Amino acid sequence: MGEKSVLDPALRPMVTTALAQPVMLGEWPQPLRRQWYADRKAQMLVELAFVLKLGFGLAIMAFITDWLVVRDLAWTALAIRVGTIGPITAIGLWAARSGRVALANIATTIALSIFGAVAMWVAAHGTPADIARYSMAIVVTMLAALFVLPMSIAHKLRVALVFFLASTLAAFFPEPIPPELLIHHFAAGAIAGIGGLLLAMRNWHMESRSFLLSLQLRFDREDLEQSNALLRELSESDPLTGLSNRRSLERVFEDEYIDRSAGATALLMVDVDHFKRFNDRFGHQIGDSCLVEVARELERCIEHHGGHIARFGGEEFIAILHEQGGRDAEAIAEEMREAVASLTIETGQRKPCAVNISIGMARGRGGQSMGQLIARADEALYRAKQNGRNRVEVAYAAMDELVG
Ligand code: GH3
Ligand code: MG
Ligand code: MG
Repeated sequence: MGEKSVLDPALRPMVTTALAQPVMLGEWPQPLRRQWYADRKAQMLVELAFVLKLGFGLAIMAFITDWLVVRDLAWTALAIRVGTIGPITAIGLWAARSGRVALANIATTIALSIFGAVAMWVAAHGTPADIARYSMAIVVTMLAALFVLPMSIAHKLRVALVFFLASTLAAFFPEPIPPELLIHHFAAGAIAGIGGLLLAMRNWHMESRSFLLSLQLRFDREDLEQSNALLRELSESDPLTGLSNRRSLERVFEDEYIDRSAGATALLMVDVDHFKRFNDRFGHQIGDSCLVEVARELERCIEHHGGHIARFGGEEFIAILHEQGGRDAEAIAEEMREAVASLTIETGQRKPCAVNISIGMARGRGGQSMGQLIARADEALYRAKQNGRNRVEVAYAAMDELVG
């Protein structure tokens, strides 16, 4: 099946309806029919190519029967079959390989009809018993073709008519067969035709049902994947600011920052100054939108420098970045502080308000866990608060770094 590609959502109700009320392919809505062909085309062409090759093989092997029954005509019949069915098979195979289903169908129909007509022509020169046997063989060939051909019922009906017409014409010309044998041929042909088409219809119902169920399954799987993605997003992001949450940042740290070769890692602990006071003054709701604005500004700065940020909880954020290629985390922290300080927060009152942040920063040269960096950054943040807020403080180097 042509999986992977995303299904047209408009197909969903069509699938449900088609499952509830089975109809023939021609009665399916256009988009559903298009999907059927899109999913089946490659397989159909492979099957057609196989039938064409098998048919050509049989056209050569029929020589043995001809030789046993009407020896005089065996070579001529073989020459006719090879000379006509050969090139048509070649065209059909080329069409199948280049994706031309209609042409491959036509080639198959013509090749098959020539086979039937030549068989009847050979038989017409034999005894009545030979004719009856050949007639049966022709009818059985038609029945088998109706069964194995990878076509719609409408196509199969056309194949049956053309095939039967060709063999019947050969029963008249150039060597007419006795009328009672002609009637016999007609009767057997009608029975085989009706039987073959009924079988094909039963097949269609089973095949179409499994196709519709597979589409339904794909829709269900797409739904599941979507809800999974949504759940993942929800479980890794903070609902208020839309930033990553701590868990998600920890994963990023494990994936991208733990490796020493990536350069020194800087972790910035950001805390909004006197936020309790802000809330008390303007209300919790304004406080929320202030946090959203601060978050957006911090995210813009840190992403500009290739770092990552998360809401740690409350009015606290954590940012991480690689300090490499002349990138100085302290200067970036300073930039973040200034960016937030220059924000004007709408408070619903006459004058907008400004907020400040304090930042504690810790550097790690690899091998330190995120928890260890957080502890040191927290200590630096405490100093920033002690030293008057609205400032950046850098943590003292870790013991192992001093030694190393
Ligand atoms: P400091 O400068 O020392 O950090 O003072 P502070 O008032 O910011 O610190 P404190 O820890 O005393 O108070 C933090 C406040 O942040 C308390 C709480 O009401 C507020 N806060 C935490 N989470 C949210 C939130 O999601 N929305 C709003 N509006 N306020 C929050
Ligand atoms: Mg705090
Ligand atoms: Mg605070």
